[in-house]
Amino acid sequence: MALKTEQNVAGTYDVIVIGAGPAGYVAAIRCAQLGLKTACIDNWINEKGKASPGGTCLNVGCIPSKALLQSSEMFEQASKKFKLHGIVLNSVELDLPAMMQRKNKIVSELTRGIASLLKANKVQSIAGTARLLADRHVEVTKDQAQTIYAAQNVIIASGSSSIEIPAAPLTDNIVVDSSGALAFDSVPQKVGVIGAGVIGLELGSVWRRLGSEVIVLEAQGAFLPMADEEISADAARAFKKQGLDIRLNARLLGTEIIAVAGSKKVQVTYQVGSQDCQETFDKLIVAVGRKPNSDHVFDEEVDLVLDERCFIHVNEKCETSQPAVYAIGDVVRGPMLAHKGSEEGVMVAELIAGQFAEINYDLIPSVIYTHPEIAWVGKTEQQLKAAGENYKSGKFPFAASGRAKAQGDTTGLVKILSHAETDRVLGVHISGPQASELIAQAVIAMQMQASAEDLALTVFAHPSLSEALHEAALAVDNRAIHLPPDK
Ligand code: FAD
Ligand code: AMP
Repeated sequence: MALKTEQNVAGTYDVIVIGAGPAGYVAAIRCAQLGLKTACIDNWINEKGKASPGGTCLNVGCIPSKALLQSSEMFEQASKKFKLHGIVLNSVELDLPAMMQRKNKIVSELTRGIASLLKANKVQSIAGTARLLADRHVEVTKDQAQTIYAAQNVIIASGSSSIEIPAAPLTDNIVVDSSGALAFDSVPQKVGVIGAGVIGLELGSVWRRLGSEVIVLEAQGAFLPMADEEISADAARAFKKQGLDIRLNARLLGTEIIAVAGSKKVQVTYQVGSQDCQETFDKLIVAVGRKPNSDHVFDEEVDLVLDERCFIHVNEKCETSQPAVYAIGDVVRGPMLAHKGSEEGVMVAELIAGQFAEINYDLIPSVIYTHPEIAWVGKTEQQLKAAGENYKSGKFPFAASGRAKAQGDTTGLVKILSHAETDRVLGVHISGPQASELIAQAVIAMQMQASAEDLALTVFAHPSLSEALHEAALAVDNRAIHLPPDK
């Protein structure tokens, strides 16, 4: 550790942010907007050996996965659906290197964009690995050299990493984590995915659409238990129809790299009930969740409290157990989502600047970018039941939507749950086309404390997918126009 004296402090700031992911870079920009002298330290290095701000989200998460989801969906449409529109292609060929290059270009343009935004806002970007010392001094290690900086306030936004499990050690470019699965150089014949969470389903969908046989092994008995049960069941039916083989109650026991006809494969042993089963895959994607990067980010002389799952303990204002030290994003409790971290970044910057700021943690939307897309905000029906809440429900299937029919994409439904007496919207759940965009309307409505009737009284353009939201709101009062009435 570098000696910490006032003489060797290389720079002093109002705020030092550790991490330039969507939590950290947003916090840094907002601090700078508010006139605070800010530095943002990040240690992400891309394959060219260059600093690459944007964290997991831009480098190996939200953005590259959505680029591949879009490309693979277009490939599947061209291969299977164009002919339904009367478009006949003689052949559809996959140019995987070009698809990967497109994804890489998007990542590099966006990460360079973040670097210039930080610069334009006069945030000092510092490349290296930061460690919080006592008295809000921060040691930065780069090329084995240490530099010390000091700040009035420190925001830790060090993010999260893929969980590795002893039963499936990452190896040989055959057993990979989500980052590896975003960079296969050919389409594997058979892909295994461990974990039917958001990341496992998205990456499984990418490779299935590009031609792999995909089997997803999920330890739990329930499919997508965090979503509304009706939406999970609807999505499970759609995935099955697509040929995505999701096996529940499948507990991974072990993996072994084996040679089959001169090429390396991975043999997976898993248990369903008391029965041992085996599958052999060309690639195995381990997507069993993510863990907070809280282990090396502060020195032991800083008495930061962690919770039992090693998240940095914070209150609702993202204050840690140490004065003027905040933590935001994936390294703290709450959903591991980019927009949740970014909003925490804005809130903390404003609190540091002495302003009032808060987040409505009840209204953070969740999205799964599969086909159908799945999106929700607020309470699920099972949560309302468990809480003994008196509620009403209105549903509208996309099969009854003119726009969805015209698009040739009628899977899924919109479901609205509202309070039985006050009619206030308590939850909105969507599976179907553009669910990721439609959910924003529900978030706005709920943020404004709208009732289902408020949505029912709103005029929606025809024909649009949004009309399904309108009809679901009408259905809460059993008066949807394009559905037969409930008995
Ligand atoms: P991160 O993005 O992890 O950034 C932390 C940064 O801090 C990194 O650059 C890291 O290198 C740096 N760092 C860590 N420790 C130090 C240190 N000691 N010194 C200096 N720098 C340090 N979320 C969504 O909302 N929507 C999606 O569609 C979505 N898709 C995803 C797809 C995949 C495949 C994955 C893996 C994740 C996805 N996520 C998605 C989750 C999302 O990426 C995270 O929630 C988000 O990146 C968290 O932001 P963060 O700023 O807290 O941390
Ligand atoms: P998420 O936390 O949303 O990324 O989802 C990870 C998923 O992986 C969860 O549904 C877990 O139940 C599942 N999972 C975790 N460990 C295993 C395991 N050993 N075998 C199969 N599934 C697992």
